[in-house]
Order: sequence, then C-alpha cells, then structure tokens
Amino acid sequence: MMKKYTMVLASRNKGKLRELQALLTECLGDVIELRSLDEVGIFGEIEENGATFAENALIKARAAAASGYIGLADDSGLAVSALDGAPGVYSARFAGEHGNDAANNALLLEKLVGVEDRSAAFVCAFACVFPDEREPIVAEGRVEGVILEAPRGEGGFGYDPLFYYPAFEKTFAELSADEKNKISHRGEAVERFAQLFARQTGLENDR
Ligand code: IMP
Repeated sequence: MMKKYTMVLASRNKGKLRELQALLTECLGDVIELRSLDEVGIFGEIEENGATFAENALIKARAAAASGYIGLADDSGLAVSALDGAPGVYSARFAGEHGNDAANNALLLEKLVGVEDRSAAFVCAFACVFPDEREPIVAEGRVEGVILEAPRGEGGFGYDPLFYYPAFEKTFAELSADEKNKISHRGEAVERFAQLFARQTGLENDR
C-alpha cells in the first residue's frame, strides 16, 4: 500500500495550493495531500525575517509544522547581479508596499538605467519540516535571464514581464503557465524537493 502524507503548506493562497498539489502529484503520484494554514487553525502572521530564500522557507515551514503535520513552504524572488542580488528576499516589497508589482518593476527599471550587465536569476527555495526529529529538507531551483528595458507580455505575475529568457527569446510573461513550469525556478525546486522527499521517506521503494 502506498503511504499518504498530509502536509500543511505555509500559505493562505488557494491558487498556489492547488497548483503545487498538481505538481507534487505529477512528480510523486497521489501520495501527498496539501492543506492550508487556515484548515489546521493557524491564523497569525509568520514573520519572514531570514537573510536567504532557504531561511525564509524554513521559518515558514517550521511554523506550519507546529500543526503536528509536516510543514511545507516556499520562498522565492529575483536576484539581479548588478544590484548585488537585490531585490532578493525583499522582492515582493522592493518598492515598499507588499505585492505592488507595478511599483516594484518601475523601481527595478530605475535602478538599472544605464547599467550594462542586466543578468538576473529567479530563485526558489522549498523547505519541508517534520513534526518529529527528522532532518528538514531544503531544495532550490534557479533560472537565469536578463532584465529588459521595458515590459513585454501579459501573463505571469511579479517581475515576469521584465524577465527575458534567452533560450526561448521570450519574457516569462510571454510563456504559458505550462511552459513556465517546465523551466522555472519554482518548477525545478518542486522537482528537486519531490526527489529528496521520496529518497528520505523511502517512497521510491513503494512505487
Ligand atoms: P514570496 O511570495 O515571498 O515567495 O515572494 C515572491 C516575490 O518574488 C513575488 O512577489 C515576486 O515579486 C517575485 N517572484 C517570485 N517568483 C516569481 C516569478 O516566477 N515571476 C515573477 N516574479 C516572481
């Protein structure tokens, strides 16, 4: 019989939960069931004060694991070479207000005026914390690109319209969700996480 694992995703975003559930099922089969923080009665804010994506993911996963279930969390953002890795862990609130994509993109363009090296990477870290003594799992994904001088494309979110992916000659906002998942930092991080989780829990032997 295949094992079933219930995990609490440290997020209140239903769309994110649905999408991640589908990706995990694709990678591992029907063995992980995700629940949201609300479903297990965790309602407070989780303070993300880590210095790296991995640290922030661990902080959130630990908070979710306080439910008694396995805690799972991701943290992601954009790292621009010429800005020493900024906006980094501040990606969502680069221009001050959390989640203001237009302001964040405008500030990024402003900071890169006249800058020659426009290379950047999207990075995503997944962390999984067990409610017992088992070692946490951390998996990262990364995709390299170039910051354009003006936005292109209508899809995606965040910095997608400015993030040009040379191999496809398109910005992330010009890709379908499926195309983006196949090459994105998040897609890679989920896949790596699924592999590590399967190895650590012995899932591979069950399949
Ligand atoms: P998080 O929700 O704390 O992981 O913050 C992620 C932030 O990084 C978002 O608000 C975006 O600004 C940026 N970001 C992360 N992944 C992507 C992506 O795939 N496309 C565009 N922006 C992203």
